[in-house]
Amino acid sequence: MNIAHLLLGSAQEFRDYTALARGNEPYLGFRDLWRKVSVMSMHLRGRFGLAAGDRVAFAMTNCVESIEVMYAIWHAGLCAVPMNAKLHAKEFAFILGNSGAKLCFVTPDLAATIAEAARDAPAVKEIVDITTRPYTFMAVGDPVPMADAEPTDPAWLFYTSGTTGRPKGAILTHRNLLAMTLNYFADVDRPPAGSSMVHAAPISHGSGLWNFPMMARGVVQVFPESGHYDVAETVGLMNRWPDCSIFLAPTMVKRLIEHPAVRELRPGALRLITYGGAPMYVSDLKRAMETLGNVLCQLYGQGESPMTITHLSLDMHAHTDHPRYEEHLASAGVADTCVEVRVVDEDGKQVPIGDVGEIIVKGDTVMAGYWNNPEATAKSLRAGWLWTGDVGAFDGDGFLTLKDRSKDMIISGGTNIYPREIEDVLNLHPAVAECSVVGRPHPEWGEEVVAFVVARPGATLAPAELDRLCLDNIARFKRPKDYKFVDALPKNNYGKILKTELRTLL
Ligand code: AMP
Repeated sequence: MNIAHLLLGSAQEFRDYTALARGNEPYLGFRDLWRKVSVMSMHLRGRFGLAAGDRVAFAMTNCVESIEVMYAIWHAGLCAVPMNAKLHAKEFAFILGNSGAKLCFVTPDLAATIAEAARDAPAVKEIVDITTRPYTFMAVGDPVPMADAEPTDPAWLFYTSGTTGRPKGAILTHRNLLAMTLNYFADVDRPPAGSSMVHAAPISHGSGLWNFPMMARGVVQVFPESGHYDVAETVGLMNRWPDCSIFLAPTMVKRLIEHPAVRELRPGALRLITYGGAPMYVSDLKRAMETLGNVLCQLYGQGESPMTITHLSLDMHAHTDHPRYEEHLASAGVADTCVEVRVVDEDGKQVPIGDVGEIIVKGDTVMAGYWNNPEATAKSLRAGWLWTGDVGAFDGDGFLTLKDRSKDMIISGGTNIYPREIEDVLNLHPAVAECSVVGRPHPEWGEEVVAFVVARPGATLAPAELDRLCLDNIARFKRPKDYKFVDALPKNNYGKILKTELRTLL
């Protein structure tokens, strides 16, 4: 099945419902979107001469056209390569070169950068700016039937955010994306037709993946006119469009609840916030629930099993009388319906409940491999299981608590220390805005714990206060031996903290 069938189905079932909106204004209904996509696909195969399986990249600030471009690509039987709009020209060049994309769509703000990047990616034959005639001309002509696609055909090359090295292109097949979509309905939500979703996070990543369940259910996808996450604008859109869902990284949730505009949110306007992609600290989660009510659902996934490993549902967030409620809030929830999740030792043997090990996943959402990277594929996919590189532990109720990326774990005096646990404690201090904990080589202990801390504006922090907090909450040997106060933490384009860079500052 071609994943573009989701649009065809909605064009039949929800014909004149709005499919896409630009800020406050409707852009296209489902039937018109399907027609446009179908005509565009004819141009891709005819005018641009692309053949089944060819890769088509795009570098676009979030906008309605990103959805029509993606569906035109699939309708034509091609493979999409969405790139984060904030990447550097060299990173674009790497992805264009690695994917072998022949065509790249751009928003005008990125035209010059992509032209520069494409000089190092000879396969790219054409760059199409969506505000120019070559693009508008793609809407002229007659619809053509959708190309056949096998469930195993690559549909989306999902380039990882590269917190530890060069990005890798996880091959997501039509089957992977369909399984992820159905899993949304099983574990997250089944939004009604006519409800809405605002795309505030990058369309090349989590927010873009959520387009599928929305497309399938007749939900209007709203693109902020600014093209990025502006809290006041987002709140305005949540008030404008009915029954709104949104995907936000944990730092974006924090920005939402700390912004004065959150007080203007109409009761009932917000249907659901799915958050994930990085740790949500319990203190932040509780504040978010106090401010917004029970509208939060957590996801743990990775590009290699998109948005689908575990979830902490709306109900689990609301289950305050559960005897282990606090632990559940600090966890990433239970295994998703479409996957099997295990915690294993180095040999792949399941460890007992409560023990920490690497998280491995099997199921229909797990990628087919990394594009053009057999070594990385062999490391990540072993005997049908995806080795996530994340470490965690299951409890007796089946809740998975994530500890860290295995590479971020600190080994001091032969004992494993998980930075997240220390970060959770430091975040309890009201003057701590953000923090991140890494290991520093130590001649005697192997490594010692160092905390990078950003104080809230106007606040001062003394190491002794943080030390006290740690002594009150965690084992003595885990507390940081050094606190480094900094103005900001280095982050990548998805807002993830770059521990690799912090380690160079030690
Ligand atoms: P990416 O492939 O760029 O989406 O990054 C996936 C990684 O982000 C995972 O392997 C985890 O390390 C981290 N991650 C994703 N979801 C969560 C979550 N809910 N809590 C903590 N870390 C997460």
